[in-house]
Amino acid sequence: MKPSNPVTRHPTMKNPVETLANTRHEFGEHGGVNMSVEASTTFTAMHPDILAEMFSGDLGPEQGGCYLYGRHFNPTVYSLSRQLAALEGTESAYCTASGMAAISGALFQLCDSGDHVVSSNTVYGGTYALLHDFLPIKAGIHTTLVDINDLDAVEAAMTDRTRVIYAESIANPTLRVADIPALAELAGRYNAKLVIDNTFSPLLLNPRQLGADIVVHSMTKFIGGASDHIAGAICADHSFIHQLMDLHTGSLMLLGPTMDPQVAFNISLRIPHLSLRMAEHGRRAQTFAERLQSLGMAVTYPGLPNHPDHELIRSLHCSDYGFGGILTLDLGTEERANQLMDMLQNDYHFGYMAVSLGYFDTLMSCSGSTTSSEMTEEDKADAHISPGLVRMSVGYTGTIEQRWRQLLSALERLGLVPADGGHRADQPARTG
Ligand code: PLP
Repeated sequence: MKPSNPVTRHPTMKNPVETLANTRHEFGEHGGVNMSVEASTTFTAMHPDILAEMFSGDLGPEQGGCYLYGRHFNPTVYSLSRQLAALEGTESAYCTASGMAAISGALFQLCDSGDHVVSSNTVYGGTYALLHDFLPIKAGIHTTLVDINDLDAVEAAMTDRTRVIYAESIANPTLRVADIPALAELAGRYNAKLVIDNTFSPLLLNPRQLGADIVVHSMTKFIGGASDHIAGAICADHSFIHQLMDLHTGSLMLLGPTMDPQVAFNISLRIPHLSLRMAEHGRRAQTFAERLQSLGMAVTYPGLPNHPDHELIRSLHCSDYGFGGILTLDLGTEERANQLMDMLQNDYHFGYMAVSLGYFDTLMSCSGSTTSSEMTEEDKADAHISPGLVRMSVGYTGTIEQRWRQLLSALERLGLVPADGGHRADQPARTG
């Protein structure tokens, strides 16, 4: 699907870093440049009326700086939430204990029993299982999976009970790009909400500014950046965030996937350098993708002109951050994929065989048997997730040339590319 306005940035898009720069800075209790961690689970009211007013919703973090109880709002978690709202250009945000908590919390809030979701058929395996297996049985919420790039198929799947169109900005693991403005227009016509998982593309895509209603994140990935915290966020307007926290019907308030304040504090210190990290992940992924393609490898990367959504993403992205830090290589069979990953990890120290993404080192996994293993074989085939597909989250440690030599050496040793004297590293490189 071609964008209506190719290769120009969406007119309303602001650079998210400018937005972040205007966020109120939170100083520590004693004037520290970093905020203090508020470890309390409960907060003293200086007058008995205040507690009642907080329960009635008349007082809160935005009304008088009042806090009641940590599962409701905590000042440190709230501060990170404001950073996330600035990052995504939404009025408000709420941080959760995981990406799955953000996704399930948003969907539970938007859908009642009997309601319907139209979702991309290419989403993270946990999200697929939530939509395909869990929600129908536990909550009577049914999902139709469609090729999200086929807008006619999306429209044909809409019913009068459809409350949500759901997609990943850049899909895990196929790297197809959602046409967010077109999906937003469609959702609006059917009175549904467009929910976009922006885990793969913080900063480089701004779903809200492109028309999405709600943006969810797994902050476990690029935003956290060090694979040391499981975390998530829901970014939306004030009224939706308030609905999530409603004492009677709020999915986050009542299901309770609360973020720990220490985790919020740690993640808040990574937001300022997210822009540098995303730019470097993207620069290296682009370089490797181009070189792999020139060697004839079956590489997929949205920054390559032959990617089916290359023109679309060029029209939507913030070019300062490139096309994202993930590429995939299709090795044909799982055996071949495992051989390559084993060699890259254990002989050449190029990266690690591990699920997840957004780490400072390269992480590699075979999606079909790991993070998409929840999908039926038929759904994997429909989504074009082949058994030999290796997803690489490209890290930024070492130099590009060191890492390229490691990658090339493994490819040559496996006979996947012709041995090239000019590039060949005879010994496995031993970078740390
Ligand atoms: N969304 C995407 C695109 C993911 O890749 C993942 C996990 O891999 C999640 C959501 C779930 O995030 P978490 O593990 O933080 O719950």
